[in-house]
Amino acid sequence: MGYIEPAPIKDLENPFESMMSRFHIAAQHLGLDDEVYNVLKSPARQVIVSLPITMDDGSIQVFEGYRVIHSTILGPSKGGVRYDMGVNIDEVKALAAWMTWKCAVVDIPYGGAKGGIKCNPRAMSAGEIERLTRSYTESMVDVFGPDRDIPAPDMGTGPREMAWMMDAYSRSKGMTVNAVVTGKPIVLGGSLGRTEATGRGVMVSALAAMEKLKINPYKATFAVQGFGNVGSFAALLLAERGGTIVSVSDISGAYYNEKGINIQEAIEFRNLNNGTLEGFLGAEKIDGNDLLTLEVDVLIPAAKEDVITAENANNIKARLIVEGANGPTSSKADKIINDKGIMVAPDILANAGGVTVSYFEWVQNRLGYKWTAERVNRRSDRIMKDAFDVVYKTSLQYDVPMRIAAYIVAIDKVAKTYKFRGGY
Ligand code: GLU
Repeated sequence: MGYIEPAPIKDLENPFESMMSRFHIAAQHLGLDDEVYNVLKSPARQVIVSLPITMDDGSIQVFEGYRVIHSTILGPSKGGVRYDMGVNIDEVKALAAWMTWKCAVVDIPYGGAKGGIKCNPRAMSAGEIERLTRSYTESMVDVFGPDRDIPAPDMGTGPREMAWMMDAYSRSKGMTVNAVVTGKPIVLGGSLGRTEATGRGVMVSALAAMEKLKINPYKATFAVQGFGNVGSFAALLLAERGGTIVSVSDISGAYYNEKGINIQEAIEFRNLNNGTLEGFLGAEKIDGNDLLTLEVDVLIPAAKEDVITAENANNIKARLIVEGANGPTSSKADKIINDKGIMVAPDILANAGGVTVSYFEWVQNRLGYKWTAERVNRRSDRIMKDAFDVVYKTSLQYDVPMRIAAYIVAIDKVAKTYKFRGGY
């Protein structure tokens, strides 16, 4: 393969390059031909819009919005929309590609996309966020569609924003189209189990990996970075299965309790405290960065990308890392982690429970039918466990770490589908 040399990665803090370096290694193992390599590395479509919004004080502020469709080879593209000041085109491109691989790993019939708006939702009123969300949706009316591209929540967005997106899209079409977006409130056709789905999938992946490593959940300690939708549910569900969560963190800092934090109490505290753990008395406050290097069995980074880097990877003491966030480990840290013998349940596998239940939501909307929570959970648990087993088997077969194995499974599937579909 002519593209192997020179090593393509220079700037490892760039998430797209970070994603590409793993893609590159997996492609080499698969012996992927140059043509398919080039198709899969390039996003199919990138849309950037400028969104002028009237703020509550009467001023007009211009926001930048993005939607990147990485691939529609397996089906309509799928992926969340992120509201964060760190949003930029390279990040959205990487996140879109990760969605392609994620959907392929769990074998659901979607391609990958991601959207984002560079903004700080914490500093905006509900009315300002609503106007921004509607304006973004309106400018994406020709991009989105239940058979074309289906947004969902991500960092900084949730059911409230999805309801506005569904409404804005539906108004533009003159009819209710609830399958255009997932992660909606239940009354609007949201699925039972969707809110907890990503955290639940993290729990299933963690237990599957712990079984391989012979770590008994009742004796295991966990540190969870991020106490949002992913981290808090992962922590809660693992605690319910006997795990001791010794540390959790959010934007206010990290919290440590050697005997285990009462996660239910921490969630209730956060819900009544503006969404943060600031002032939580059930644990001692420690430096946010120290959480990653605590003496625990399992580390769950569930906040954002590039938190495990070449600088701190050497100090990690956990035996298992389960990636609740997208891209929490920089590609430069991969080698250090592997050399230390730490097992990683990678993002595109471990956090795929969210998009899996998004798929169930879309299926229910299209059927005009509602599943019970029990049915949703049972089916998503099975998909997550099966995906883990396939990736684990692939890692043994190719003698590669779990992350590369997950990419091999995903790229192989997308490449084979591409070959069958053919091109011009
Ligand atoms: N934003 C979530 C993710 O990164 C969910 C995407 C979806 O449900 O479409 O996986």
